Amino acid sequence: MFEKVLVANRGEIAVRIIRACKELNIRTVAVYSEADANSMHVQLADEAVCIGKAASNESYLRIDRLISAAEITDVDAIHPGYGFLSENAHFADVCESCNIRFIGPSSRAMNALEDKAVSRALAKRAGVPIPPGSEGTVESEQDALTVAKRIGYPVIIKAIAGGGGRGMRVAHNDISLIKGFHTARTEADKAFGNARVYVEKFIENPHHIEFQILGDGKGHIIHLGERDCSIQRRNQKVIEETPSPLIDNKFKKLRDRMGKDAVRIAELAHYTNAGTVEFIVDDNGQYYFLEVNKRIQVEHPITEEVTGIDLVRYQMMIAMGEPLKHSQRDITFKGHAIECRINAEDPFDDFRPCPGRIEMYYSPGGRGVRVDSHAYAGYTVPPHYDSMIGKLITFGKDRREAMDKMSRALSEYMITGVKTTISFQQAVLQDPNFRRGVYSTNFIEQLLSGARRELIEQP
Ligand code: ADP
Ligand code: ADP
Ligand code: MG
Repeated sequence: MFEKVLVANRGEIAVRIIRACKELNIRTVAVYSEADANSMHVQLADEAVCIGKAASNESYLRIDRLISAAEITDVDAIHPGYGFLSENAHFADVCESCNIRFIGPSSRAMNALEDKAVSRALAKRAGVPIPPGSEGTVESEQDALTVAKRIGYPVIIKAIAGGGGRGMRVAHNDISLIKGFHTARTEADKAFGNARVYVEKFIENPHHIEFQILGDGKGHIIHLGERDCSIQRRNQKVIEETPSPLIDNKFKKLRDRMGKDAVRIAELAHYTNAGTVEFIVDDNGQYYFLEVNKRIQVEHPITEEVTGIDLVRYQMMIAMGEPLKHSQRDITFKGHAIECRINAEDPFDDFRPCPGRIEMYYSPGGRGVRVDSHAYAGYTVPPHYDSMIGKLITFGKDRREAMDKMSRALSEYMITGVKTTISFQQAVLQDPNFRRGVYSTNFIEQLLSGARRELIEQP
């Protein structure tokens, strides 16, 4: 096993990785920006190295500083977490050339799935359905109009380098297409340093269903079932659950078919380590490939709860060169798990981020409750990074029990000093359609605009 691992990330995922290392008797090195000096990951790690100023491009995105920190502390491997450099093939290459193991997919696999346009083409070659759309990128207004004419409105313009729900625009006619083409390009250029976009059919009211995969780089790839992440706000996930109520209630056969398609895509990409194949599913049960996330995902804990498999530990075993110790048949599912992302945002003010000092902090516990968080009383949430301060995960013998535990746990979660999305999550948990498991990606928009507004009105 590795003796020492550097965690090239911050927040709850850095804490999650350090915990996995401790359980494996691996020493840990935290890196942190000046804004994160008092962060929990710094306190939990065996060693910590400051790598620069608060802005990510002065710290967590600086490959040179991460490698220096790794060399000074003499680590065997780097875990990149999610976001930041986790899907950067160049960073993975630099690690390997410095004799530091990158705990993630090989750069070959990352290159095979380099961006969303390349991944779409790969899915097509794998025989997996993709939304109708452009062949590769769309370089001009005229190209975009031609594609839209062929596939019909509505369409969505998407950045090939996009992530975190950014760099997308929906268009319902030629005028909004031309406008969306330019705004998506500008937004993508600013956020990802890459303006290129493609156009695909906008699927109305879809369900987001994704499959967790694991590959060992020795020709063995399996999936660990699905996660339904349709509860989204502005294309960003808010609540995730497994198994998917849509599959359980309406389309039981999809589980096996989509799981096999996810594995086929991973095989074609020679995928290694943990990854996620994302799909959208329409109301008729037709599914379409979206993208592959080449890293551990925010919502990985719900899969851990129903499969009993520690995904971060598995990532380290694979990076060490161990073959998978499970075959597809060994993967079994038990019970139901739900995750709520707790953000320091004001749900009564358009989810405006609310950084600041946490005064009081009490996190829920009890049977079937898991909290993955770096927050504590006295911690100051910095304004420089994303606003997620924790994940609340509940596990029950069935969906009903997992929901009841979630409502109970949300009502116990006490955070003062900063505004949080806890009350909003509670309103979703009480919604009759959510409770029935009948929802699509426009659920929150409807909740916020429609008849159920009173649920989230300030008392
Ligand atoms: P997940 O499905 O794991 O929730 P998200 O798309 O929500 O994935 O992204 C997880 C984290 O990674 C978020 O903090 C998000 O802002 C960040 N992220 C994802 N993709 C990118 C990207 N291409 N560039 C920068 N940050 C990204
Ligand atoms: P990101 O990299 O930001 O995660 P994705 O391609 O995974 O981007 O899409 C994020 C979300 O945006 C999806 O879960 C879905 O809600 C919405 N979305 C993306 N593509 C489409 C589409 N073609 N039709 C409808 N919704 C889409
Ligand atoms: Mg996605």
